[in-house]
Amino acid sequence: MDWQELLHDPPLSGFGEVAPPIFQNSLFAFETVAEFEEAMNRGGRPVYTRITNPTVMTLERKIAELEGAEAAVAFSSGNAAMAALLFSLLQAGDRVVAATPVYAGTYGLLTGMLPKLGVSTELIDGKDTEALLAALPGARILLLESPTSYTFELQDLEPLTAAAREAGVLSVIDNTYGAGVYLRPLEHGVDVVVHSATKYISGHSDVVAGVVAGPAEVMRQVRGQGLVFLGAKLAPFEAWLLVRGLRTLELRLARHQDSALEVARFLESHPRVRRVLHPGLESYPQRELARKYLRGTGGIFSFELADGDAARKLADGLELFRIGVSWGGHESLVLPLAAQPRVVSSYSFPEGLVRVFVGLEPAPALIADLEQALARI
Ligand code: PLP
Repeated sequence: MDWQELLHDPPLSGFGEVAPPIFQNSLFAFETVAEFEEAMNRGGRPVYTRITNPTVMTLERKIAELEGAEAAVAFSSGNAAMAALLFSLLQAGDRVVAATPVYAGTYGLLTGMLPKLGVSTELIDGKDTEALLAALPGARILLLESPTSYTFELQDLEPLTAAAREAGVLSVIDNTYGAGVYLRPLEHGVDVVVHSATKYISGHSDVVAGVVAGPAEVMRQVRGQGLVFLGAKLAPFEAWLLVRGLRTLELRLARHQDSALEVARFLESHPRVRRVLHPGLESYPQRELARKYLRGTGGIFSFELADGDAARKLADGLELFRIGVSWGGHESLVLPLAAQPRVVSSYSFPEGLVRVFVGLEPAPALIADLEQALARI
């Protein structure tokens, strides 16, 4: 990854600005018909912000660099990015093989929307590499997410992506956890990466956005169909906020990681905690896969209490941690999973599971907060 690309932007205005201007335009006008035709037919200059915008293009270039991909396309949410990718590439009769558990929004697309268009999905436990391999022949897309959102299960990417390529199946991964820093899926044979940029890439809980990155030809299709026709484009100001977020991505991740490991070790030693699911801990069941694929672990993990009641009491007793979905911002959060609706997901987890996101607050303060709340269960 080229750090220059993430940190610096060439001045565009002639004023020597160190941060890029925001092109807050819906359209771009031309002086001659020849220039207009050139832009419409061959690209190069932006025409209309639903299709391209210079601020959004800056973000897309940086995301492609982050993931080592040829190109990237930005969207108004992570789910819009996944939907645009799937709707651009799939047609009636196609089959998707998805490693479970799948993020709930993706699960909704796969099981609620795509079947209406004649696309089927085979959901297979992501830990069962043999079963995933056996399902690949004849499929169109292999959909991965590693580690998974609530239980942090890893998939063995290299045998899966090698077999997918051999079988002519496009491999796609949700890399929201690894953020292009702690997991770089293209180095392990994955074709296309999808992010909820809402999380670490934004980093400040003030943007909802998504990106897709991969081979130029696939991205042309995703832009030309999924972006242009579904229309879920990213706003220039939000792209600018994400460009800003990218400058501190590695720094923030390192801080989240250090604090989260401290918090996880504290929880692991606490008598009320049954187990901690964190890929950076020695106790993590897939430690070998974590070593093979993850360069770091960031701020999110889960731990298990006796039951749903204990999880709710803990969450209500916390003062610094707040209760919320999503993650990747400055603020620490807990999510007692017993309080989540289960109808739209392929997850199965114990009632007492609590997801934790460790933000940018000092770890000792977070540990003290957990300690007092655990004492009151
Ligand atoms: N993928 C994962 C792993 C997520 O956690 C989320 C959001 O929570 C999404 C995708 C969807 O992203 P968004 O909420 O930006 O649409």
